[in-house]
Amino acid sequence: MNGIKKIKKDENGTLHVPDRPVIPFIEGDGIGPDIWKATRLVLDKAVQIAFRGEKEIEWLELDVGEKGYQKTGEYLSDQALQSIQDHVVAIKGPLTTPIGKGFRSLNVAIRRKLDLYACVRPVRYIESVPSPMKYPEKINMVVFRENTEDLYAGIEWQSGTREAEQVISFLKEKMNADLPDHAGIGIKPISEKNTKRLVASAISYAADHNLPSVTLMHKGNIMKFTEGAFSNWGYEVAQEEFGDRTITENELYEKHGGKVPAGKIIIKDRIADMLFQQVLLRPDEFSVIATPNLNGDYISDALAAQVGGLGMAPGANIGDRCACFEATHGTAPKYAGQDKVNPSSLILSGAMMLDYMGWEDASERLRKALQDTVKAGIVTYDLARQIKDATEVKCSEFAKAISERIK
Ligand code: NAP
Repeated sequence: MNGIKKIKKDENGTLHVPDRPVIPFIEGDGIGPDIWKATRLVLDKAVQIAFRGEKEIEWLELDVGEKGYQKTGEYLSDQALQSIQDHVVAIKGPLTTPIGKGFRSLNVAIRRKLDLYACVRPVRYIESVPSPMKYPEKINMVVFRENTEDLYAGIEWQSGTREAEQVISFLKEKMNADLPDHAGIGIKPISEKNTKRLVASAISYAADHNLPSVTLMHKGNIMKFTEGAFSNWGYEVAQEEFGDRTITENELYEKHGGKVPAGKIIIKDRIADMLFQQVLLRPDEFSVIATPNLNGDYISDALAAQVGGLGMAPGANIGDRCACFEATHGTAPKYAGQDKVNPSSLILSGAMMLDYMGWEDASERLRKALQDTVKAGIVTYDLARQIKDATEVKCSEFAKAISERIK
């Protein structure tokens, strides 16, 4: 057996994963410790069963969030960020946003400091999970949300402050803008570089997974130079970097009579508000969705609701140097320490991490065991309140039930 090593990424972006990789984890705040304990149990079991002990993850704890603050006086140290970068792959529970301590959000800080520019959120229906949809099995999408800019860049000024007044007078006097007095002001930067790398990663994903289309979601009819530009740059990068693999939706009908040529990925775009209704009415028309930050935040939670809610929604933040897999929900403080909540979001994020490492033998067993557990009616409170005659179990009992079903 190999000794313990770090995962490496070469200059072509290929991952080299040793048999005993060290993977840093952040337990998280609030419900974090409960869902992390559950996740670690089932990840270790899936790896052990899939590889019969020949592969094993060596976990390395990073003290971030409230735990970090108590131990070191820092919520997010440079050392922790460096460790994630050095080990290439990491996993984290949810973190509380400290009020008035210099961070807007620790999660946003991690994404921006490590340049994890793609927030990847797969939305797939797991059989037997309660859903408000008539045909939830038609939902199988992956959202690629831009993670570093848009209104989330944090460039904003409160109404009535000197800074806001300065910006307003500049816009009125120098740019001829019509603005209400004393408005709060936020800036929405969307750049060609960041759009193109996000859309390129979405198209690469579609190509690697044989998916039929990439939809550019935007509100370019109103915000022409930000959201409209996102769509234009998306089409451009599809042509520049994937010209032999992609066709636009227009070309599909104008040149190919609506019949998709073999091996081609369709690039299309949809106005954001319309896409919200189309993913409800005709979800099977969408597979990969690439979108700016704010739209991506909204659509991924809305899609999660269609397949069981936030407790079931996995996610990852992926950049060129490293990736951090995380539950998409927050710390749910009212349930902290109660061993109550659904750990599936973090467990499924762990399964995504195993996929990313090329350990699909383990991730597929894990997903199957989770589905079998829900099918057997063994669920945490959030699903129990939607399933008649379900057996409601604690977070740790749910993990144990999954673990016993990993074959
Ligand atoms: P939240 O923690 O996501 O919780 C909102 C509600 O979602 C919960 O009350 C619960 O609903 C449901 N929920 C969340 N996780 C669940 C799970 N694992 N199983 C079952 N139900 C679950 O949102 P919040 O209360 O707005 O945010 C709390 C803190 O988390 C804030 O400090 C925020 O900044 C932070 N946050 C962190 C992240 C992150 O780390 N990525 C993301 C979002 C928010 P019911 O009460 O209806 O059962």
